[in-house]
Amino acid sequence: MNFEFATRVKKIPPYLFAEMEDRVSIKKAQGVDIIELGIGDPDLPTPAPIVEEVRKHVLDPENHNYPTSAGELETRQAVADYYKKRFGVEVDPKGEVCILLGSKEGLANIARAFVNPGEKVIVPDPSYPVYAQGATTLCDAVSVRVPLQPKRNFWFEDSPAVLDRTARMIYVNYPNNPTGAVASKEYLIGLYTWCQQTDTIMVYDNAYSELTFDGYVAPSILEYGKEGAIEFGSVSKTFNMTGYRIGYAVGDSKLITGLKKVKSQVDSGAPKFLQKAAAFALSQYTGRDKPRMVQDNIRVFQERRDLLVKGLRDLGFKVDPPKGTFYLWFQVGGSSMAFAEKMLNLGVVVTPGIGFGQAGEGYIRIAATQPTARIEEALERMRRAL
Ligand code: PLP
Repeated sequence: MNFEFATRVKKIPPYLFAEMEDRVSIKKAQGVDIIELGIGDPDLPTPAPIVEEVRKHVLDPENHNYPTSAGELETRQAVADYYKKRFGVEVDPKGEVCILLGSKEGLANIARAFVNPGEKVIVPDPSYPVYAQGATTLCDAVSVRVPLQPKRNFWFEDSPAVLDRTARMIYVNYPNNPTGAVASKEYLIGLYTWCQQTDTIMVYDNAYSELTFDGYVAPSILEYGKEGAIEFGSVSKTFNMTGYRIGYAVGDSKLITGLKKVKSQVDSGAPKFLQKAAAFALSQYTGRDKPRMVQDNIRVFQERRDLLVKGLRDLGFKVDPPKGTFYLWFQVGGSSMAFAEKMLNLGVVVTPGIGFGQAGEGYIRIAATQPTARIEEALERMRRAL
């Protein structure tokens, strides 16, 4: 039988993370001791009280049937309560919240709801690959890549006036993957205002809002306005729950309605027992401050971040400690792929910057997702080889 991939699928470059995983599996099969600093998947376990919630709810037959694709009302209420306590933003759990199978799914599906074939989507360069591929390319749309400027805190250069006014949608992500950058209130208000003036839908990816250091508190874009904006969040990084696949979208009711409409035809919702565990996790927030279980996490990541910054600086790299995310992003002088290959030969997995866009070339992303002893070992291997 003769058949081919659809044209839109042919346009998708290989997902770098999947390719790296294959490479790493081969090395592991060869018996190489691999230190995994590539993918942004925390090594720390989900806090025990959350796991206990899963255990409790999975045993209840009430939670064994189909959920609703938009999420159980109880979970949406938990997200609304969290937004009120954490960001001071009022949202209607019925019309302005949708539960997701991880925020990745929603970041892709929102484009299916609002972007037509051939329309433009503004995608930062570098950025999380889903914006350009899973969202834009799979909608037969066109991504307009706009470089993030290292000299300007990894924000867009100059004012938003330089952006393409004809775009349907823009993706914005701070704390930022892969650069670790955060954005000021003035900068975000400037972008939001530009979106309002140009009828551009603002998709704000806040997956790392809680993974912040040195007293920095990340805002929600909804603090500056809800009209025309949709924000994506997740329990993945906040509570070490990447494997549970629970995220949420909050914002303009029309955007949420479109997203729900797409989802109703694509998935049947996240398992109820996992939604209940996620709702419990979010309910740990009693105000703007991080609950104890999140603070404990942050302390671990901060110690690792500081160890990596010092170690990499000792090796001669220019590295700034990020205020958000568990990523270190730094220039290696030359091909990022060649550097990553060299590191893989040392048994250390890092992510080449080119995987996040052309502007990522020459950079490497290291994720602080291993215990300090393993990070020390990785730095030692680099010291010997570089
Ligand atoms: N957004 C960014 C910037 C990410 O780095 C990730 C995961 O790495 C996600 C969204 C998706 O997270 P999840 O689907 O686990 O909620």
